Amino acid sequence: MDKEETEEEKEYFSHPTSTVEGDVEIGKGTNIWHYAHVREKASLGKNCNLGKDVYIDTEVEIGDNVKIQNGVSVYQGVTVGDNVFLGPHMTFTNDVYPRAEGEWNVEETEVKKGVSIGAHATILSGLVLNEYCMVGAGAVVTKDVPANTIVYGNPAVVKGFVCDCGKKFESAEKAFEDMDKVIFRCSECGKEVEIDREVYKRLGKTAED
Ligand SMILES: [Zn+2]
Repeated sequence: MDKEETEEEKEYFSHPTSTVEGDVEIGKGTNIWHYAHVREKASLGKNCNLGKDVYIDTEVEIGDNVKIQNGVSVYQGVTVGDNVFLGPHMTFTNDVYPRAEGEWNVEETEVKKGVSIGAHATILSGLVLNEYCMVGAGAVVTKDVPANTIVYGNPAVVKGFVCDCGKKFESAEKAFEDMDKVIFRCSECGKEVEIDREVYKRLGKTAED
């Protein structure tokens, strides 16, 4: 069978310079670009895009419509939900106290649906990045990130709130407040997003506060 026939049979695209190991699941419409490497037992959903030099470790699970920019390594222990954006050269880790010698202690990190992570951000291991949060470029994330928050800095702290559609909420868009929640209404798409009062109070606070 020649190369062209093989390309027609599979429902995803992998550039000739990429490496896709055996026993992988790759959804229809996914593109795997130059020098990317998908290890065995990894799974990728539909319509994903893996940029140049992306590395997907063994047993990693990635959802649908995930965009992974150049140079990102998704290590074992990391799970990525649908519609996630991983900016260029952002970094996952998977051991908080790594040593070259001894056992590797893999800790799990979960990136939930709709999360965006900016260029060169670093995510420590054992964390949950909740739905539609946005991590700014160069941030160092050391704690779980609540849904629909914008975090950045080193260590990253809550700096604002954002709609699922990507529009940043201004304080004037607050629809109403009650004891437990602050509710924003998006001026772009009309969606109402609830932020827990405890999360809202973290706005602008330093990590030590
Ligand atoms: Zn919106």
